[in-house]
Amino acid sequence: MERTKYVLDEKDLPTKWYNIQADLPEPLPPPLHPGTGQPLGPEDLAPLFPMELIKQEMSPERFIEIPEEVLDIYKLWRPTTLFRARRLEKALDTPAKIYYKYEGTSPPGSHKPNTSVPQVYYSMKEGIKRISTETGAGQWGSSLAFAGACFNVDIKVYMVRVSYNQKPYRRVMMQTWGAECVPSPSPDTKAGKSMLERDPDCPGSLGLAISEAVEDAVSRDDTHYSLGSVLNHVLLHQTIVGIEAKAVLEDIGDYPDILVGCVGGGSNFAGLFLPFLKDKIDGKKPDLRVVNVEPASCPTLTRGPYAYDFGDEAGLTPLLKMFTLGHGFIPPPVHAGGLRYHGMAPIICHLLNIGLIEALAIHQLETFEAGITFAKHEGIIAAPETDHAIRVTIIEALKCKETGEKKTILFNCSGHGHFDMSAYEAYLAGKLHDYEYPQEKIEQALKDLPKVPS
Ligand SMILES: *Cc1c(COP(=O)(O)O)cnc(C)c1O
Repeated sequence: MERTKYVLDEKDLPTKWYNIQADLPEPLPPPLHPGTGQPLGPEDLAPLFPMELIKQEMSPERFIEIPEEVLDIYKLWRPTTLFRARRLEKALDTPAKIYYKYEGTSPPGSHKPNTSVPQVYYSMKEGIKRISTETGAGQWGSSLAFAGACFNVDIKVYMVRVSYNQKPYRRVMMQTWGAECVPSPSPDTKAGKSMLERDPDCPGSLGLAISEAVEDAVSRDDTHYSLGSVLNHVLLHQTIVGIEAKAVLEDIGDYPDILVGCVGGGSNFAGLFLPFLKDKIDGKKPDLRVVNVEPASCPTLTRGPYAYDFGDEAGLTPLLKMFTLGHGFIPPPVHAGGLRYHGMAPIICHLLNIGLIEALAIHQLETFEAGITFAKHEGIIAAPETDHAIRVTIIEALKCKETGEKKTILFNCSGHGHFDMSAYEAYLAGKLHDYEYPQEKIEQALKDLPKVPS
């Protein structure tokens, strides 16, 4: 009988994360201090993050041990299953093999607790009692809330106002795990108050919610800040996804030709592709293709300039070298929830810049269409973010049908869409439209970039 599911034994759960920084052909451009424009030191980050994470952020070590207590929590849902999408292959009539790693079986329903759990753990070990964060669509807030419950740490979540209103059940999920969740902009911080004075109806943005959460953390000794994507340590924790996928594929004697993933801040896809990319860097798999998929409504990698920018709206965070739509970016009200950040993980940006990976922007209507095709054949109703990866996987599989090539495609199925039914509802009712990000806004972003010493 042909197999559909491949999963490691619990006893073979990986015990180390993989750090790409050990293998980069050229080092990452360093993060800069927002005030001085000089490279950042570990002490600059100490008010925000536990020292262990700061070390990981800058570490040259190839492998980093996963703490026992973190593995114990990971075991609630890891190892996750690698599926062979046989029914989708048949429906597309493609000679390609399609695999997907499904991260939607974690308690909050996405890949995000792979990093929220270790992040809360390291802060708890330093005696921190409270962590602040932001959330867009709510997946990160709920993942941090879950991790807070695991280690008995209080969580405060600033949730982008439009999502707070559109997605009440993500908020209730956070509250069920014991977290406090407020809409951003909120009156609880200076950054929030100042925005509410300028625009009382402000729908909020991830950049602004980050400003609020960072301000909250730096103004209290008992509080750290936590970020769910973008940073090197976040991508590091997500590599457990790719390490598991590589191990099961090795067991069955297969290896992907094309890796596909959706990118918002870049963490789920980097988590899948980094362990494979090492083989491309080492020359073992020189023609491996790594395709990053972003929404055309937030075309960071495909249309943004590669430059130093702030990670947040108010300019409180370090300057990161990344493709960016500008820290003043307010996303258009489209549904790709968690893919609407103005910047992108510096590791992904660097890899794109040196030509090791590719990027593609696609419109939302075709992503929902692909998500529905996937649901009909594979059963899983994926998150709207994930639908971007599904769309490009289908495009690649159909190319194989034309050429007759038997390529192996692997995508990261980053989460389920059970809390995104209103987005599917809007799509099915014909209420969604495609949105091309305007060129003027790209030019404006270029003008607003912070000046850095060269
Ligand atoms: C948050 C989220 C994303 C986007 O974030 P990345 O850091 O780019 O992974 C994608 N898919 C799902 C299901 C998410 O929750």
